[in-house]
Amino acid sequence: MENSVDAGATELTIQLEGGGIKLLRVRDNGNGIPRDQLEYALMRHATSKIASLDDLQCVASMGFRGEALASIAAVAHLTLTSRTADDAHAWHIQAADGSHSDIAPAAHARGTSVEMRELYFNTPARRKFLKSEGTEFGYCVEAFKRIALSRPEAAFSLQHGSRMVWQLPAQTGERNLQLRIAALLGDEFTQSAIGVDRHAAGLHLYGMTSLPAYSKAARDLQYFFVNGRFVRDKVIAHALRQAYQDILHHQRHPAFVLFLDIPATQLDVNVHPTKSEVRFRESQAVHQFVFHTLQQALSVPIAAAQPISYGLHQTTPNFTVQQPMSLPVSSQPLAFYDALFGREQTALAATCAVAITPPSQPAANFPGQDHAGIPLLGFALAQLAGIYILAQNQHGMVVVDMHAAHERIVYEKLKIALDRQQIPAQPLLIPVSFSADALDVAIVEEEQDTLAQLG
Ligand code: ADP
Ligand code: MG
Repeated sequence: MENSVDAGATELTIQLEGGGIKLLRVRDNGNGIPRDQLEYALMRHATSKIASLDDLQCVASMGFRGEALASIAAVAHLTLTSRTADDAHAWHIQAADGSHSDIAPAAHARGTSVEMRELYFNTPARRKFLKSEGTEFGYCVEAFKRIALSRPEAAFSLQHGSRMVWQLPAQTGERNLQLRIAALLGDEFTQSAIGVDRHAAGLHLYGMTSLPAYSKAARDLQYFFVNGRFVRDKVIAHALRQAYQDILHHQRHPAFVLFLDIPATQLDVNVHPTKSEVRFRESQAVHQFVFHTLQQALSVPIAAAQPISYGLHQTTPNFTVQQPMSLPVSSQPLAFYDALFGREQTALAATCAVAITPPSQPAANFPGQDHAGIPLLGFALAQLAGIYILAQNQHGMVVVDMHAAHERIVYEKLKIALDRQQIPAQPLLIPVSFSADALDVAIVEEEQDTLAQLG
């Protein structure tokens, strides 16, 4: 797919069979390969993408090492069919096990098809290491998504066996990126995300990033592209984490599709075999730029959020909550307060609109210096913002995030139950439907036993 993009293709058709292990075919309408270069295309370290030394200093193409086709030809049956605009018809060449066929005429519109069959047919040891078809298919989908996200102006389709998985029309309008993101990642994400678009000092950051209310338990919805290439980079990851630090629980992850365009001379893409890592010449400046852009973008919607009145007491000032929160507080079971706080005060803490206990009173709850019987977190005094418990113990004041505390208690209980191999499970009365991507489904299927063990 990267080769197709490099060849200027505007239409990419991907066909898979057996999770891509049996067949993986990419067809494009790009520039094609002239007949006399078909053989070179299969040669190791042969590339058409570096013409001068300057090209090496600033790589603008997705590929440049000339390794992909040669590597595929070494471990699978490869057929390369191509036709340039000048050709009267197409030519094709077949390769397997280190040798290739003669070049022969073939039928194909302008563009190129690369067809790979029976991955690792000649290296059984490596074939064994492939995951199930479902999981391998999931990896293919992920690779497909990354490239399809980065080129909204091109049309893409992905077919698995007889099933059409994705069919994405070319998006050329103003909101093309947003439409492509919505098509691939769903409206749920685009509706809970804000647009980002900022230029500074030759850098351009744009795309969409999630509001704190929409966060994920995993990093599975994080797409960052540098000059159109999907990358995982420590500098970028740190800048993003920092931008969300104050507004997102540290165990939650933001979702984003962001593009950073940077002059090619500022970037070294030749640091990792799959080119998924990059090196910035001015990494500090890039960090600052990404961090500030996101922090600023996120601060606007948060500041605009309605202030929430605490309703504790008439004279208590209103505080502005820093982020949209929606925790199901009223549904917290009362028993959980008992585990945390002294029993006498439980009823008080559970009532949302309690008046703050007069200062003299809590001291009376502590009989002298005898700390025995005082729960670690002390006695609950009040509930703040419907989210926190304010308590007092022998050391002073304690503020507890009820939701987090509840999760923690449940988690500890589950750990004990797991040790004893007695996590109870029961089918839901009413099934819950949700959408899951191919990789999720495959993982669930492969990990049936573990999941059953976990209840
Ligand atoms: P690289 O992309 O690093 O150059 P590859 O092994 O991926 O190496 O491809 C080798 C060469 O084959 C490319 O440099 C390019 O000239 C040609 N090629 C491969 N795929 C295509 C395609 N889809 N359209 C046009 N040319 C292609
Ligand atoms: Mg390539």
